[in-house]
Amino acid sequence: MRNHRLTKFKNSIVVKSIAFLIVAMLLIVAVGTYFFTERQMATTLNWTFNTNQTQLDQLGSSVNNEMKQFGDKMTLLAKSYEVQSMDPLIAGGYLKSYNISDLFISGETVTLYDRRDSMVCNNSMLDANKVSYPINFAKITPHRPYISNWYRDSDNTPKRAFGAVVSDRASGDGSLVASFSSRRLWKYFERHKIGKDGFLIAINAAGEILYHPDLKTWLDEPHKISEFGIKELNARHFETSDLTFQHLSDGKDYLINYNYNPTYDLGLISLQPKAEIDEMVSSVKLISWAILACSILVMLIAALWLMLMLWRPMNRLIVHINQITDGNLDVKDIVVGKRKDEIGQLSRSFNLMHNTIKRQIRELNAHREMLEQEVSERTKELEDANKKLDLISRTDELTKLPNRRDMNETIENEVGRSTRTRKPFCFIFIDIDHFKNVNDTYGHAAGDEILKAVAEMVRSLLRKYDVLARYGGEEFLTLLPETDLEGALIVAERFREQVEAMTIEYGEHKIKVTITLGVAQYDYGLGADRSIQLADKALYEGKESGRNKVVAWNPERTTTEEYKRAAMDTVDAVP
Ligand code: GH3
Ligand code: MG
Ligand code: MG
Repeated sequence: MRNHRLTKFKNSIVVKSIAFLIVAMLLIVAVGTYFFTERQMATTLNWTFNTNQTQLDQLGSSVNNEMKQFGDKMTLLAKSYEVQSMDPLIAGGYLKSYNISDLFISGETVTLYDRRDSMVCNNSMLDANKVSYPINFAKITPHRPYISNWYRDSDNTPKRAFGAVVSDRASGDGSLVASFSSRRLWKYFERHKIGKDGFLIAINAAGEILYHPDLKTWLDEPHKISEFGIKELNARHFETSDLTFQHLSDGKDYLINYNYNPTYDLGLISLQPKAEIDEMVSSVKLISWAILACSILVMLIAALWLMLMLWRPMNRLIVHINQITDGNLDVKDIVVGKRKDEIGQLSRSFNLMHNTIKRQIRELNAHREMLEQEVSERTKELEDANKKLDLISRTDELTKLPNRRDMNETIENEVGRSTRTRKPFCFIFIDIDHFKNVNDTYGHAAGDEILKAVAEMVRSLLRKYDVLARYGGEEFLTLLPETDLEGALIVAERFREQVEAMTIEYGEHKIKVTITLGVAQYDYGLGADRSIQLADKALYEGKESGRNKVVAWNPERTTTEEYKRAAMDTVDAVP
């Protein structure tokens, strides 16, 4: 009996393939995700740094542009007619009108000096003595705009002084000096966004803070950038190319970008908290692991689907084939549905094959039944023929009596029976008298007729269990079961009488014959053949003493010599 259950998991190539695929893909995705997330910190940091740097550089050029434009306008102002008049009233009025113009904002001053560096006039309502610029008049040349270091005056806002030659300084006309407030740059600084919680600080070469979003804390009075805890900050040469974080005095780690413009002595520091970058990284990591989880789910679903589409149908097919192989041809067809793939085609082909086998077996069975019937008919015919042959081989053709061969079998059976029952039985040997003469006188054909007539006569006189056989040419042997010598003599005498009384007509001839009969009882000591010989002896005696008579063999005449010989025969017969 074949296995009618599903293939075990450990033996299934489908299950193994699916498992291998899942493990391989999971490994790839997991390793990929791991390295991706590991690299994510560096990538994010790099990206953030570069983005911040780009934005900071843009901011730097914006503010530098603002300062350059201020310088240009100053130069233009110095060339105006009113200023060049060096008249305190004309120039003063003209400069005051700038208080509300777009060139100056609140707190900024512009002052005109004469050739001896004494003030001519200014735009301020303030006491002229309170207006002072940290300038070296000797350095104000027509060739190059003069810009002072950053300084603070009464309003405590970091400022720079711009100086321009009025007319020709060389001929000793005068100079125009204006203050540039860092307030002008705040709008750029405020607009500048660094991540979510990042911020910007502006410093000068001395490390003094020029801008900080917390104006109150950091700008009310001068502060140094070193208070932040940025290590080894040389404002002119500060470098932030390495992407490390700095632990600052507020207790937090920051990613720092830096931009410095030597022309305007303005250093810009952007600070983005590390926590913020970490958050970005961790959210990317979270997304990565979510993708990994989704991949696992998708793979599991794919595995389940493959199991349903391959493993189960293939196993059903195997079970089906095994059932049919076990001889269960009547199993139903495999349900295929509309599947057009290999499994569907395989199932359909299998159903087709199954039906073909079924039909062929039916045809074979029908053919076999037909053959069996034919064989049985032939066998019957053969048996009949054999029976006929057997009968023929045991029957004498002329008289239709059993022949000698058949008689020998009958004798053998009777010997056995008599040995068991101890009941006597007798032989009567019959020979037609002077039969040669009959043949000679009437012809052989007449002889045949006489043989038939004698046989028929004797047979008609037999009892139910008596047997008559043609034993030789014109000799007959009769076996009388359960009959002693006395009874046999009576029977023999009746045979003799009836044959004698009989007339056989052959053509115009009326022929009469007589028979001589020898009777002997079966002798256990002698056996069948010798007992028949005794009957033959008696017959011979009948012939000798005149024929047409019955002679019985007297058992007392049997010599001990004969018994001995019979015993010897028996011994000899035993192998
Ligand atoms: P006896 O009285 O001594 O018996 O004389 P007999 O002539 O009958 O002698 P025997 O028994 O020796 O003769 C047998 C003869 O029977 C010989 C043979 O020609 C004849 N015979 C044997 N079988 C047949 C047969 O089938 N048909 C015919 N027509 N004759 C047969
Ligand atoms: Mg004879
Ligand atoms: Mg004879």
